[in-house]
Amino acid sequence: MSEKRTEIGDLGEFGLIDHLSEKIEVKNPSSLRGIGDDAAVIEAGDHVKVVTTDLLLEGVHFDLSYAPLPHVGFKAVAVNVSDVAAMNAIPKQITVSIALSNRFSVEAVDALYSGIRAACEHYGVDLIGGDTTASRSGLVISVTAIGEAKKEQVSYRNGAKVNDILCATGDLGAALVGLQILEREKQVFLANPDMKPDLDKYPVVTGRQLRPDARMDIIHELKEAGIVPTSMMDISDGLASEIFHICKASNVGATIYEDKLPIDKQTFDTAVELNMDPITCVLNGGEDYELLFTIDQKDFAKLEKHPDIHFIGHMTKPEEGKFLVTKSGTAVPLKAQGWKHF
Ligand code: ADP
Ligand code: MG
Repeated sequence: MSEKRTEIGDLGEFGLIDHLSEKIEVKNPSSLRGIGDDAAVIEAGDHVKVVTTDLLLEGVHFDLSYAPLPHVGFKAVAVNVSDVAAMNAIPKQITVSIALSNRFSVEAVDALYSGIRAACEHYGVDLIGGDTTASRSGLVISVTAIGEAKKEQVSYRNGAKVNDILCATGDLGAALVGLQILEREKQVFLANPDMKPDLDKYPVVTGRQLRPDARMDIIHELKEAGIVPTSMMDISDGLASEIFHICKASNVGATIYEDKLPIDKQTFDTAVELNMDPITCVLNGGEDYELLFTIDQKDFAKLEKHPDIHFIGHMTKPEEGKFLVTKSGTAVPLKAQGWKHF
C-alpha cells in the first residue's frame, strides 16, 4: 500500500497554515490571539504584548546580487515592525537570528547589522537577543518583533463591519515593479558584466523593493486622531489577497473602486514600460508594506484630509461578494492571486 503524499503546492502557503493550525489548540488564558492575524496577542497586566516573526532566505526573499546587505538588514526588521503596526501596536523589542555560510565575512555581517541597527534606531526598538548558526545555503535571517498596545486599541483582522470604509496607505505596486527592474538589470549584467545597472532612473520602485518602510507614522497619527481601525493588516502579499483575508476573518464582502487605488507615477510609468498592467500591479503586487484598514463611517471626517490615506472602497454584506468597480463603472469580481512561494 502506498502512503498518500500531498504536494505543499496543492495547498499553497495559506492552505498549509490553515491545515497546520486546525490541530493547534490555545490553552493559556493569556494567549488572547494565536495563529491567524498579523501578530499574536498576549495579555500582559494593564496592556497586551504582540509578537510576530518573519523568516527571510537568500534566493527566495532577497538576492544579494542587487540587494545591499545593509538594506537586507533594514528590511528584515521593517517587515516585522509592519506586522506590529498592523495590530495598531508600538514595537519595542526585536530578536535577530542568522544562519551564515562561509561565503560571508565579518565585514559582510557588519554591513547586515548596520542596516539592522539603523532600523532599530528608526523604529525605536531594542535588539535584545537572537541566535547565530552555520548555513550550507547562503544567508538566512529570522526576526521576531514584540510590541505593546492597550487591549482595547488592538486592531484585528476580524473586526470589519458592513458599511465600514476601507482605507489603504501610501501607494501600491511599487515593490513588484521594482523587483522586475532589479531582475531585468541583473540579467543585463549577467549577459554583459561591463554594463552598469541602470537603477538611478527608478528610485521609487527599487527603493520600495530593497528598503521598505513600515508605516508606524500612520499608527501614531491614528492614535492622535483618536481612531482605532475596526480591522487592520499590512499589505505584504498584495492588496486583493489582503482584502480577502479581512473579508474572510470579518465575514463581510467588499467593493473597491479602480479610480481610488493609489499608485505612484513612477510605478505606473515603469509598469507600462515593462508591459505590465499597472492596476494588476496594485492589486496583486506584494511587499509594499503599506497598511490596509477599515474605519467606522463616523471617523471618516477625521481622516478625510490626510494626504497619505486613501479611501478605496467599503465593506458590504458577505453575500454581496468582493468586487472591483472599474473606471468605466463595471463591477468585476476581485481575484486574490497573492504572492506564491510554493
Ligand atoms: P504575515 O504575512 O502577516 O506575516 P503570514 O501570512 O505569514 O502573516 O501568517 C499568517 C498567520 O499564520 C500568522 O498568525 C502566523 O503567525 C501564522 N503562521 C505562519 N506560519 C506558521 C507556522 N509554520 N506555524 C504556526 N503558525 C504559523
Ligand atoms: Mg502581515
